[in-house]
Amino acid sequence: MPNSAPRAIEKAIEEPGALVAALRGMRNHCPRCDHKPLFARYLKPVARCACCGQDWTLHQADDFPAYIAIFISGHLLAPVLIAAGSRELLPMGWLALIAVLGALLLTIVMLQPAKGAVIALQYHWRMHGFDPASREVDQRPD
Ligand SMILES: [Zn+2]
Ligand SMILES: [Zn+2]
Repeated sequence: MPNSAPRAIEKAIEEPGALVAALRGMRNHCPRCDHKPLFARYLKPVARCACCGQDWTLHQADDFPAYIAIFISGHLLAPVLIAAGSRELLPMGWLALIAVLGALLLTIVMLQPAKGAVIALQYHWRMHGFDPASREVDQRPD
């Protein structure tokens, strides 16, 4: 069994519920044991939690965090832009600039928390690489 060794170093721990795990991941904490960090870089999770040993390369978050971040930033910005536009508070050019920069900024700010939550829920529900049945297969993207 090639996977018995990595599993063995995972510390036994009381597993959190979905909401707790997601909130931990959003805050760059390990969804499993709540210690920092979950991310080694902006969007790259640590290979293993330094505390509990959980392998975080097993996720397959793909584009989903980006969809979440864009969806939320759009819904935050749209009412502001519509209100400002309909009252002609600013020239259209300025509104367009605010829309583009605002969407960019909000998306950048929300990407890591969104990815943390997605990884946490994939872990919680044993999806993709976190599914014990898939551990035989080497399918680690990044
Ligand atoms: Zn820990
Ligand atoms: Zn941990």
